[in-house]
Amino acid sequence: MDDLSKKLLDQLLQTPGTSGYEQRVQQVVRDFLTPIADEITTDSHGNVIACKNPDKERRILVDAHCDQIGLIISHIDDQGFLYVQPIGGWDPQQLVGQRVTIWASETGVPGVISRKPIHLQDESERGQVAKLKELWIDIGASSADEASEMVRVGDSATLVLGYQELANRRISGPAMDDRTGLWVGLEAFRQAAKKQTECSLFMVSAVQEEVGLRGATTAAYGIDPHIGIALEVTHATDCPGLDSRQQGHLKVGQGPVIFRGPNMNPHVFEALESSAKATESDYQIAACGRGASNDANTIQTTRAGVATGLISLPNRYMHSGVEVVSLDDMEGAARFLGHYLANSLPSDPIIP
Ligand SMILES: [Zn+2]
Repeated sequence: MDDLSKKLLDQLLQTPGTSGYEQRVQQVVRDFLTPIADEITTDSHGNVIACKNPDKERRILVDAHCDQIGLIISHIDDQGFLYVQPIGGWDPQQLVGQRVTIWASETGVPGVISRKPIHLQDESERGQVAKLKELWIDIGASSADEASEMVRVGDSATLVLGYQELANRRISGPAMDDRTGLWVGLEAFRQAAKKQTECSLFMVSAVQEEVGLRGATTAAYGIDPHIGIALEVTHATDCPGLDSRQQGHLKVGQGPVIFRGPNMNPHVFEALESSAKATESDYQIAACGRGASNDANTIQTTRAGVATGLISLPNRYMHSGVEVVSLDDMEGAARFLGHYLANSLPSDPIIP
């Protein structure tokens, strides 16, 4: 990973972008793409779309979502405590005891989420799991008026951003889904854009995946691609308590996952696998027997249909503050996707 790629990763993991509030992270994306792309647009939904060689007859879309799960302030009580709704799919147990930032200002307002101490819980309370509606954020304010000067209903919040490096080139933090997939897309686009490509390449930093695949839906409609590759994270199954019989045995650090199944075009799968082999990149194969629960789903059914591929990074502890992915998997995915994009031809088959 060169200095530019490392700086991009740091920025992507430290910049907020809860679904619907992606403006700051999209500025990071625009700044990175400006010297690389022939055209960059931001649509009225908030998707950032970069294009290389816009006039070729075949259009290939690469999609990664830039939004992350978070919280939205729904109520400020008389004592200045904040209550929230979820944005995206949270397990409330993951939120108890977390430090958060409310993005009400440029620097953000710090807060903490907690609940009644164990000493003060009665017997029945100790056996219960936390519910989101019973959790609150404490920002240190001592009244509703004071809190209201610092935050407003409708402000978004994230867990404290950033990441920690673990052994074996693994990284952990709250925004791996899907900033690491976005990093792969941006890096692959940069690599492919150095070459004279035969297809038009569109890199989409899509909004609002976590609330219903909404950004990819509008972006794919607007671009009308022939091929669409979604970049995501998927559940690694190499940690305690998971069953490999349904999801397969997917290990962090053993390569990105190329999916097969009805959501994926068989020619696109073959081409991605060939690129992985040609670049001597590790990869894993997984099955998905239905429409995927990510942007690959909506891309495939856009307009008259799109030949779709899905590459996912194995991720432990999905939708928590400590998601774990591998830098090796990220670099491998960027390498073979970049190769695929640089070498795709308008005549490559897409009809199954
Ligand atoms: Zn995701």
